[in-house]
Amino acid sequence: MTRHTEIAQSTPSIGEGGHTGDWRSSRPVIEASACLAVKQGKIACQICWVYCPDVCIAQGVPPSIDLDYCKGCGICAQVCPAGAIAMQPEAVHSVCPAGKSPAKE
Ligand code: SF4
Ligand code: SF4
Repeated sequence: MTRHTEIAQSTPSIGEGGHTGDWRSSRPVIEASACLAVKQGKIACQICWVYCPDVCIAQGVPPSIDLDYCKGCGICAQVCPAGAIAMQPEAVHSVCPAGKSPAKE
């Protein structure tokens, strides 16, 4: 009997909504040292990949997030069993003119 270990998923594509990551007000940041896949040194866990409704997480060690399509829903951070994903305000990551601080939320 063939055992399938992967779940069929589509990949994101530009639709009428365009790059949905443009809507985001906060972004997920993976703390690699806390990720179970990194700790095990192999593609393990991947629960964030399973649950992302925008299919913008790629499996990996650690998984990677396509911020062009991540809309910042925070589900990946909620389901991560290791607490390895933190949602951070987008303004913290925005590019700002030299000498100016990014806007606070
Ligand atoms: S915040 Fe939402 S859309 Fe973005 S990677 Fe996590 S689950 Fe996917
Ligand atoms: S759910 Fe958390 S621990 Fe599991 S692969 Fe994703 S980031 Fe790593």
